[in-house]
Amino acid sequence: MKKDIDWGSLGFEYTKTDKRFIARYRNGAWEDGVLSDDASVVMSECAGVLHYAQECFEGLKAYTTEDGRTVCFRPDLNAQRMHDSAVRLAMPPYPQDKFVEAVKAVVKANEEWVPPYGSGATLYVRPVMYANGPVIGVKPADEYEFRIFTTPVGPYFKGGAKPVKLKISDFDRAAPHGTGNIKAGLNYAMSLYAVELAHEEGFAENVYLDPPTRTKIEETGGANMLFVDGDGNLVVPKSGSILPSITRRSLVYVAEHYLGLKVIEREVTLAEVPDFKECGLCGTAAVISPVGLIDDHGKEIRFESGMEKMGPVVQKLYDTLTGIQMGRIEAPEGWIVEI
Ligand SMILES: *Cc1c(COP(=O)(O)O)cnc(C)c1O
Repeated sequence: MKKDIDWGSLGFEYTKTDKRFIARYRNGAWEDGVLSDDASVVMSECAGVLHYAQECFEGLKAYTTEDGRTVCFRPDLNAQRMHDSAVRLAMPPYPQDKFVEAVKAVVKANEEWVPPYGSGATLYVRPVMYANGPVIGVKPADEYEFRIFTTPVGPYFKGGAKPVKLKISDFDRAAPHGTGNIKAGLNYAMSLYAVELAHEEGFAENVYLDPPTRTKIEETGGANMLFVDGDGNLVVPKSGSILPSITRRSLVYVAEHYLGLKVIEREVTLAEVPDFKECGLCGTAAVISPVGLIDDHGKEIRFESGMEKMGPVVQKLYDTLTGIQMGRIEAPEGWIVEI
């Protein structure tokens, strides 16, 4: 029995669901995890996460396909990325096969919260790992907790995907050789002030440039960018401090193998952005948000696709990937994992 919820009117907010998965790292090893009713975290006031921000997280979604299966999308890539994030933060990585098993277990335990096909809503799955052991000297903690909880979230685009406006930020997101390529809360803490300012000025998000030269496109606070050039090729910015988005990697595959597009991954300068025909933001939540305009200090870069709808190439990418996710188009091997 599904929960009695008006799925279409849900926003992107936290709703407590029945079960979460919790595993502890103690005495140098990960213990077996359990499913728990307890949504609260209790820890020492000296926990490493509270002082030195030893924390990383993931985000993926579970949903119902057209033929009624409960599935999630490429959880093995979330397992791999969380492993890489943990290593970079001197945290003990959670075993990748156990990560995927735990995602399945927690979604299964909350099956009544998985929105039905066609509602546009999904069950957002949030794995998170943090140092809960006490540490006062600057060093990695000895104890950690790995947790996966779920929350139902509404359709990202209510009433159609309207293109968004972005601004070129005067703040930096991630230093070269820093932590921009891992999914850590610390990369978000310092972006909140900048994104509040952007919102006040009427922009959906900030576009961050490369800190050393401030001439190259990196990404926004929480999504990778992609462009379509005058020849219809998909152009994807390349940099060591961009977070490797699973949606972006999937779109690149779809562009090459389903749509026969040429994909060019390279450094992209701000100076050449006016030459592009279409622009989009990509991430798990929206798959692709079309971008209509980028404001560079009062100079407006407007894309040909305009402020009313997605450009034709972005639309095709969006339709094909969401078709694969929902089971309307055959998926590449291993992309759709049944619960
Ligand atoms: C999570 C995230 C993305 C999107 O990644 P997906 O795997 O596609 O959801 C992009 N940029 C940043 C900074 C992120 O944290």
